[in-house]
Amino acid sequence: MPVSAPPIEFGAVAISETRIIGIGPQSEIITRFPKCEVEDFGDALILPGLVNTHTHLELTVMRGYLENEDFFAWLRKLTVARLEKLTADDLRVSATWGACEAVRAGITCVGDASDSAMMSMLALKDVGLRGVVFQESFGPDPRLVNENFSSLKTKVAELRGLETELVRVGVSPHAPYTVCAPQLDLIAELAHAEKLPLMMHAAESQDEELLVRDGCGTFADRFVQRGIEWSAPRLSTIQYLKQRGILDTQPLLAHCIRVDDADIETLRETRSKVAHCPKSNAKLGHGRAPLAKFLNAGVTVGFGSDSVASNNTCDILEEARFAVLLSRAGERDTLITAADALRTATLGGARCMELEGQIGELREGAQADLAVLSLTGPHQIPNHDRSATVGFASSGREVKLTVIAGREVYRDGRIVGVDEERLRARMNEISEKL
Ligand SMILES: [Zn+2]
Repeated sequence: MPVSAPPIEFGAVAISETRIIGIGPQSEIITRFPKCEVEDFGDALILPGLVNTHTHLELTVMRGYLENEDFFAWLRKLTVARLEKLTADDLRVSATWGACEAVRAGITCVGDASDSAMMSMLALKDVGLRGVVFQESFGPDPRLVNENFSSLKTKVAELRGLETELVRVGVSPHAPYTVCAPQLDLIAELAHAEKLPLMMHAAESQDEELLVRDGCGTFADRFVQRGIEWSAPRLSTIQYLKQRGILDTQPLLAHCIRVDDADIETLRETRSKVAHCPKSNAKLGHGRAPLAKFLNAGVTVGFGSDSVASNNTCDILEEARFAVLLSRAGERDTLITAADALRTATLGGARCMELEGQIGELREGAQADLAVLSLTGPHQIPNHDRSATVGFASSGREVKLTVIAGREVYRDGRIVGVDEERLRARMNEISEKL
């Protein structure tokens, strides 16, 4: 299933080193590349690797740790645990475990936002996962802008030394309620000057909307308690981010639930991209982003699992199914199909990561990032419509092989070159601490 072209019955993909060198009917490919070693996967589907545009792999150890809290208590408990209970090595183990979960589910590229970005980069490298690690920046207090911004610059400079062909660095001003306006301005300038991809949480919760539009609500109350100055821009989050120059960086915006038609037009015009995280949004009770409207308007959208602290799994096929069902439940004028969802999970994701033409499709010359999905489960038979079988009846658990840049990273239950038993033991140890 090339995604950017019609499905090929009895198809084959030829790979040499990091790239796809041929795709077509099996007989044709075997004739064209007679020296290639051939592997037949039987009743299976070869898909482009799935793209998870929004994760926080360092928080994997918090799966199930933050249940039934309101958003504010959730954020506070998460932040305290991350800052006070977890060491750098704990965060690295947590991120590596998350990266293992991702490749097991056929995910070949992630957009990972991280406070300890160094640990996430090491995790991606250890597992062989492709991605952009966005170094997070926090700072709601305008009095601390210089300090916070120079700390971000120092971290980014260090991380750049770790960049590889597969793993790149980006920046992430965390959210409108955690980063003040002058800090947003500086980060937008930095992203421009250093050509850094920028990711930000935007238009997620009702409290965020109250803060930005009306200067009230839980976040505003907290600002008053902490003596933090805040004058509400009296705009929607999207218009506020446009005003601050964030949208000039063609950012990747996670969530975008609280958007009106004018905001959607702004997203399209500024070529901003949306990381749509329907399960996290539903679980935290934030609502539903208008997926069909985004797609109709020509806004670039990919799927994101968000952290497993709010999901609780990192599985883009499951996310895609949930996205379609939720859209159909709420947006009756446009019917999103399983094929739309598959396209969003692959090509859409590639566009979100600024890797269009390289990943997200099976095409000659593209990177050899792919997943092999078994089609032999009882829940997948019969297989009248391939897109429906993948989008509505399958999950990441049916993936049997994941290849990234031509390298096998996962095959038949095992991650290549990673000691999962040691990681499992460490994950249990760390969760005891929490
Ligand atoms: Zn997030």
